[in-house]
Amino acid sequence: MVTTHNLGFPRIGARRELKFAQEAFWKGQITEEELQITGTDLRRKHWHSQRKLDRVPVGDFSFYDQVLDMSFTLGNLPERVSETGGSALDQYFRVARGRSGQEPSCCGVQAGEMTKWFDTNYHYIVPEFQQDTRFQLNADRLIEQINEARAQGLIPKPVIIGPVTYLWLGKSKDDSDRLTLLDSLLPVYSELLDLMSNHGIDWVQVDEPALVADLDADWRHAFSLAYHHLKTSRLKLLVTTYFGELRENLQMACELPVAGLHLDAISAPQEVARMVDWLPPHKQLSLGVINGRNIWRTDLGKTLDWLEQVHEKLGDRLWLAPSCSLLHVPVDLNSEEKLDPEIRGWLAFALQKLDELAILATALNQGRNAVRKELAESALATENRKTSGRVHNPSIETRIQAIRPDLGQRQSPYSARITAQQQKLDLPLFPTTTIGSFPQTRDIRQARLQFRKGTLTEAAYRQRIREEVSRCIDEQEILGLDVLVHGEAERNDMVEYFGEQLEGYAFSQFGWVQSYGSRCVKPPILFGDISRPRAMTLEWTRYAQSLTEKPVKGMLTGPVTILNWSFVRDDQPRRDTCLQLALAIREEVLDLEAAGVGIIQIDEAALREGLPLRKSDWSDYLDWAIEAFRIAANGVRDETQIHTHMCYSEFNDIIEAIARMDADVITIETSRSDMELLDAFRGFRYPNDIGPGVYDIHSPNIPDSEQIKSLMVKAAEQIPAERLWVNPDCGLKTRQWEEVIPALKNMVAAARELRERI
Ligand code: GLN
Ligand code: ZN
Repeated sequence: MVTTHNLGFPRIGARRELKFAQEAFWKGQITEEELQITGTDLRRKHWHSQRKLDRVPVGDFSFYDQVLDMSFTLGNLPERVSETGGSALDQYFRVARGRSGQEPSCCGVQAGEMTKWFDTNYHYIVPEFQQDTRFQLNADRLIEQINEARAQGLIPKPVIIGPVTYLWLGKSKDDSDRLTLLDSLLPVYSELLDLMSNHGIDWVQVDEPALVADLDADWRHAFSLAYHHLKTSRLKLLVTTYFGELRENLQMACELPVAGLHLDAISAPQEVARMVDWLPPHKQLSLGVINGRNIWRTDLGKTLDWLEQVHEKLGDRLWLAPSCSLLHVPVDLNSEEKLDPEIRGWLAFALQKLDELAILATALNQGRNAVRKELAESALATENRKTSGRVHNPSIETRIQAIRPDLGQRQSPYSARITAQQQKLDLPLFPTTTIGSFPQTRDIRQARLQFRKGTLTEAAYRQRIREEVSRCIDEQEILGLDVLVHGEAERNDMVEYFGEQLEGYAFSQFGWVQSYGSRCVKPPILFGDISRPRAMTLEWTRYAQSLTEKPVKGMLTGPVTILNWSFVRDDQPRRDTCLQLALAIREEVLDLEAAGVGIIQIDEAALREGLPLRKSDWSDYLDWAIEAFRIAANGVRDETQIHTHMCYSEFNDIIEAIARMDADVITIETSRSDMELLDAFRGFRYPNDIGPGVYDIHSPNIPDSEQIKSLMVKAAEQIPAERLWVNPDCGLKTRQWEEVIPALKNMVAAARELRERI
């Protein structure tokens, strides 16, 4: 019999119950006990829906983040937090969210740093290390949950982050080598395993996704060291890898002295055969055969075609699971009553994925006949999706075939373009602008909600947005900004807004996925060939331009960002989907240009986060991603100025690709890094205009003009003044008008003083 299990279940709840409880607790509206009750209820519910599995994951539930949980289990919390006292949960949230100095009880505490979990859109709290970091076991949470699951009559399989990945994910605060902590970390892991064994646990899932990353010799050595140390444990360890191929780490992984290994067969299908051959005969092999990263139904027949052969070889040694934790998909497709039934038939959320897993297991254990009906349904859905006219639009496929390299080529080089643009735009030195959005007031969001519910007519809603655009232009005129924007009041979200207007997109109602803490995103579903039936932003930009003599910058989201923040097709390469998006955005760019819009910004906020896990795969991704941007942007005349915006501060390793985009102006986030990041641009001799952010929009603080000026002076030491723009770090939609006005006033004043100085 094959064994079925799950690596992790989405914890946020089908109706985001956890989010609402967390936020209520933080606001003091519910007690700690009430929050705990929500947690217990959710866990019970989630285990109940996984009861068909042979083993259920335990410890995957978290009040904020599983990495932070591991830090607590290992007694590794920053001193600044442990010193503040309070309940364990208070301390936990203090690391997660920080505490402002304004709280009456005490002084401020800085939150732990947050960063992306591998190549997903989930963010974890980075463990902090120091040379003298000591660990101490605190397993109460895990033991409690083990008991809870067992009380439900289930077989618990605790999930922990393995010692090497735990260190790998963290950061040293004093420049010491965190790997040297392995020696003191391992005894605590042993203690934890022994404790679980005393509680009757037989298998523990030890997540070691660092095995799919580029590891140097020291880190590879750490793996064998760690698992030789833990070998003495009475438990069986299932070391899990996911999100990618093991490549040069595969043999080492196979040789680890553990009882089983999990391989993500979705992202590393070509490693399955090697794994089957190499894994010593006493080890179990768990295969992740259902995609835990996207929302498509599995072609069960096709999976069985290869899986049956593996099963024949491995017999009972075969375990089946989703490819990774289901944290990255929404909970239940059955909640989606508004989704088009045809498209719905192609989808599977977490619960449906577990059903698929059960069908595969039955087919292997009892033969395909035992699930004939289910397999037939899966085949039908696959066939339907493959041939649906809603997915395939031959004219778009032809256009993609017809793309030639010169499609993304500007007419003249930057040096010639910038002269033409200067002549037309006549901007002062240090031109001031913003990144696009202005405050999304409660009032705007309410109007949109009413419009969606049908209580506000479309005409009234549009009128409301026009008023907002007009207010935004007025404010910018008063402030004296040089390049204005319409303010993005009509946008709920920079990707969803475009998805809603493109053919080939569908939207879920409850398809929430945790991004971090209580923050969830609802990625739109890109299911088919992309086309743009009509202009998407033209009306708003045109209206804004009609209100002012100053240039209004058109505002679009770029193809790579739209791709990276959507659930996308798995039936064609990401590159092809991205190029389709690029063609659609290109049409919008050309429409804007034809309407007289002289400056067009194309945001690529998520370009960097699409980078593959392995450095050797970067250039392939960057090649098509940059090509897509160029196709979207570069069809314009010389005098039309293209801006792009990226809100992050690591450019060193991708600067050459950024330069290839050939945007006339790039605005970036720099205010918090004190302009250090400009080093990358200077070192590379980045040729085009740059707007280093001088106003940290993540903070309610209002920068004064001296501060802004000194940042710009720093910037001018690195980049010629005539190529510098003055702008905030990012869009202003999350800020209040009361903050934005004085901040921008100071920004404009700083720019004016700089002009006089030079
Ligand atoms: N134009 C967008 C805005 O201002 C850019 C947002 C982003 O980069 N995340 O909101
Ligand atoms: Zn940004």
